[in-house]
Amino acid sequence: MDPAPPSRRSWAEPFKIKVVEPVRLVSPELRLTAIREAGYNTFLLRSQDVYIDLLTDSGTSAMSDRQWAGMMLGDEAYAGSRNFYHLEETVRSVYGYQHLIPTHQGRGAEHIISRVLIKPGNIIPGNMYFTTTRLHQELAGGSFIDVIIPEAHDPASEHPFKGNVDLGKLEAVIGEYGASRIPYVSIAATVNMAGGQPISLENLRAVRELTRGHGIRVILDATRVAENAYFIQQREPGQQGRTIAEIVRETCSLTDGCTMSAKKDALVNIGGFLAVNDWDIFEEARNIVVIYEGLHTYGGMAGRDMEAVAIGLEESVDDEHIRARVGQVLYLGEKLRAWGIPIVLPIGGHGIFLDAKAFLPHLDQSVYPAQALAAAIYLDSGVRTMERGIVSAGRDKDTGLEYRPKLELVRVTIPRRVYTQAHMDVVAESILAVYQERSNVRGLRMVYEPRYLRFFQARFEPLG
Ligand SMILES: *Cc1c(COP(=O)(O)O)cnc(C)c1O
Repeated sequence: MDPAPPSRRSWAEPFKIKVVEPVRLVSPELRLTAIREAGYNTFLLRSQDVYIDLLTDSGTSAMSDRQWAGMMLGDEAYAGSRNFYHLEETVRSVYGYQHLIPTHQGRGAEHIISRVLIKPGNIIPGNMYFTTTRLHQELAGGSFIDVIIPEAHDPASEHPFKGNVDLGKLEAVIGEYGASRIPYVSIAATVNMAGGQPISLENLRAVRELTRGHGIRVILDATRVAENAYFIQQREPGQQGRTIAEIVRETCSLTDGCTMSAKKDALVNIGGFLAVNDWDIFEEARNIVVIYEGLHTYGGMAGRDMEAVAIGLEESVDDEHIRARVGQVLYLGEKLRAWGIPIVLPIGGHGIFLDAKAFLPHLDQSVYPAQALAAAIYLDSGVRTMERGIVSAGRDKDTGLEYRPKLELVRVTIPRRVYTQAHMDVVAESILAVYQERSNVRGLRMVYEPRYLRFFQARFEPLG
């Protein structure tokens, strides 16, 4: 008898593997030693002690053969490298911004735009903070105000666009502080800290309308704008017939410039840029970049890196690529969801976010449940994830008190084009195993706290 036909046909990645890098699972004893030596902080593990590395999707993607070929075309001239002009041309055609300032990575661009636009006492509203973005805004003398819709703070809400701006809240912030104190609205696509959640075109158009009326700029964090476009294509009424490239272009057209970590969407291991339309901002930024990053035609990147970014940017807006990329994240998320494991819904674009408060209800936020859960997963299987909760949120710069974010998450981040479906199965089964033994996971005490972005280097010990 013929087998029954499947109810839906499978799809597969639009690539095959040409080079492999061995990975290895170390013994449970070695994992225990490793996590102790790392102060229960997965950022402090050595990668050789990690089996499947889902710490971040930043700079961890696999480059294509075209990108590697592009690396050989690096023009390492100090000034005026032809790779700079290729990148500039690509940013103009893929994103639509006129002027490019390359930087070593995303935070370099955040630093520069913050210095150019923010004056002490300024207010920067945005759709949820990002760690480095907010810190650079604060270091320039500004204060960030969150104007994301309330659903973004609720892991269980299945709102299709949890990255949307609450327009009423934004209007109230403008009313309270006055447009002259607001240099720009900071818009992320997708919103990393909310779980890789998208903002809709409809909402972004409304933000553009509202800010235009007040003469306020909109600066896009374009780090995952292609993934954001995929969700728009899948979920937003009227967008189904459009390509990712068209949606990305329109998204950027509703803003005045962007900061970009090319280490995410753009499929490179290092790189970033600032891109703007306004000549005056460009002129100032192009001057400042010389102090902190490098000459304005390389900004901290080698010529070959700029070439890889230019090629990666084009690959990032390919419909088949993005469907497979986000599709792999959905595959892992659907599996966990079917087993009843608490995750942020809807499933985001670059990773699965475990809801540590629901996963470990016996742990108060003060004992760092998400940090403890990331360590427990590593101990179980050598899979490396990271905390996105109270440790990442840090302290209020005025009161010195710890922020207590509503979201206490573990991010299981998927690098692009790196792992297979079998790796995803191993990850899912490890998380299930920890979930089944969750009452044994103990809280942590912080024993070392660095001053800035503490989550990267803080150290912990298990409680009692
Ligand atoms: C990674 C990231 C940044 C910072 O970029 P780096 O390249 O790591 O400096 C900024 N915003 C978002 C949303 C990011 O994910």
